[in-house]
Amino acid sequence: MSNYITQTELDKVLHQDAYTSKNTKNKKYNQIDEKLDSEIIFEFGGPWGVTAMMLGFPTLMYYMWGCLYFNRGQLVSPFNLEFWQLVAEGASPTWYSTKIYVVFCLFELFLAFYMPGPIVKGAPVARLKGQKLDYICNGVTSWYATLITSYIVHHFGWFRLTDLIDQFGHIMSVAIISGFIITIVVYTNAILQGNQYRMSGNFFYDIFMGAVLNPRIGKVDMKMFAEIRIPWVILFYISVSAAIKEYELFGYLSPSMGFMVLAHFLYVNACMKGEECIPTTWDVTYEKFGFMLIFWNYAGVPFTYCYSTLYLHITSIDNDAPLQHSLPWTIFCYSLLLAGYYIWDTANSQKNKFRMLVNGSYIPRHTFPQLPWGILKNPTYIRTKHGNLLLTSGWWGIARKIHYTADLMMAFAWGFITGFETLIPYFYPLFFVAVLTHRVSRDIERCSKKYGKDWEEYCRKVPYIFIPGLI
Ligand code: NDP
Repeated sequence: MSNYITQTELDKVLHQDAYTSKNTKNKKYNQIDEKLDSEIIFEFGGPWGVTAMMLGFPTLMYYMWGCLYFNRGQLVSPFNLEFWQLVAEGASPTWYSTKIYVVFCLFELFLAFYMPGPIVKGAPVARLKGQKLDYICNGVTSWYATLITSYIVHHFGWFRLTDLIDQFGHIMSVAIISGFIITIVVYTNAILQGNQYRMSGNFFYDIFMGAVLNPRIGKVDMKMFAEIRIPWVILFYISVSAAIKEYELFGYLSPSMGFMVLAHFLYVNACMKGEECIPTTWDVTYEKFGFMLIFWNYAGVPFTYCYSTLYLHITSIDNDAPLQHSLPWTIFCYSLLLAGYYIWDTANSQKNKFRMLVNGSYIPRHTFPQLPWGILKNPTYIRTKHGNLLLTSGWWGIARKIHYTADLMMAFAWGFITGFETLIPYFYPLFFVAVLTHRVSRDIERCSKKYGKDWEEYCRKVPYIFIPGLI
C-alpha cells in the first residue's frame, strides 16, 4: 500500500468534504468555538494546585536526580540534609553548563529561522475570528543539521558529547532556571503588549497557564518551537552521550543502552518528520504559553524523561559493566517499543492527515520513515453539525485514544529495559499515565460540549477509549 495519496485521490476527498469554513461551519458553530476557547476553567487544583506544582516540580527533579546519582536510584529520606548538600554541589549551575544549554537553544532557534521547510496553515484560531496562522515546518532539515553538526563538533573534539552526561546536574539546573526566566519574560511581554487572553485574574494561575496564546518571534511560533525543538532533541542527546560514554568505558554498546538511543531517536524523529501535523494539536491551538508548557519543555521533559538512561549509566559505572538482561526480556522490550511506535506514528498520522486533507492544508512529505497505513485512502467518518468530521476508520475505528495507549506502550518499554530494581525509571510512564488520563477527561468534556449529539454517536460507534474490548 502506498504511503502517499495521489492528486486524484486527494481531489476526491477534498471534493467530498471541502467543508470547514466554506460549507457547514456556520456562524453558530464559530460562536461555540469562541465560547469554548475563551471559557475560564480552573484546572490542576486551581491557584493553590498550580503554585504547589511550580515549587514541587523542580524540587522533585532535584530529589530524583539525587537519588539516582548518589543512591543508585533507591529513595532517600527527603529530610536527609547530607543528601541535599550533595545535590547542591552536584547540580550547581556553572558557567560551562550555562554555555552548553544556551548555545544549544540559540543554535536551534537559528535553525528554526533559516532552514528550509514548507509552510502549513494552522487550525482556525477562534480568538482571531477563525484566522489560520502560518507555521514554518523546517523541523526535519533542522534535525538533520543538528545531527551533522553534533557529529562534527564531537569528532573534532570541539565539544565532547559525553560532557552532557558528565555535566548533567549542572545543565539541569540551568534548564530549570531558564524555565522560570522564560516564563516571566513571556508573561511580562504579553501583558506589556496587551496580548493576554483567557486570563483568570489570579496571578499564580495565570503565570502557570500563561498569558499569550500565539507567541511569535517573526515567523517562528515559540510554542511549536518549544514543543519539539528543545525537549526531545536534548533527551536524545542525553542518551547518545551516555551511549558514547559506555562505549568509551567498556568498549561496546549494551543492548539496553542501544535501546534507549533507539527509543529517543524514534520519538524525536517522529516529532520532526510529522511537524506539519502539530499546528492543529490541542497544545498549539488551545494551551497558552505559560509555565506549564515552558518549564515542561525547557526543563521537565528532557531532564526527567531520561531517568532510564541515567539509571543504566549509573549502574554500569557502579557495577563496572553495563546492565544486561536475558535475551527473551530484551526482545520483549524491543518488540513492545517498536509495536507501540508503529501504532502511535500511524494513528497520529491517520487522523492528522485526514484532518489536513479535508482542511485543504495537506502536503505530501517524503520524510523518513513513512509507514504503511499512515494515511487512509477511503476513510469513514461522522459529519458533525459543527462542520468538523470525526474519523471512524483505521485506528480511529478501533479505539478513540489508541495513540495514547501506544505512547504508553513505548513509555513502559523505556522503564522495562532497566529492570525492576528501582522505581525512578518508571517515573515517566507513571507520570504519563496521569497526564494522559487527565488529558482524556479534558478532551472528552470539551468534545462533548463542542459536538453534542454527534459526539454521543461517535462514542456509540467507537465505544472503547484505550484498549478495544476492555476499556
Ligand atoms: P489528540 O491527538 O487525541 O487530539 C484530540 C483532538 O483531536 C480532539 O480534541 C478533537 O479535536 C480531535 N479528534 C478527536 N477524535 C477525533 C476523530 N475521531 N477524528 C478527527 N478528529 C478527532 O490529542 P493530543 O494533542 O493530546 O495528542 C497528540 C499526540 O501527542 C498523542 O500521540 C499523545 O500521546 C502525544 N503526547 C505526548 C506527550 C508527551 O509528553 N510525551 C504529551 C501530550 C501528548 P477537534 O476539536 O479539532 O475536533
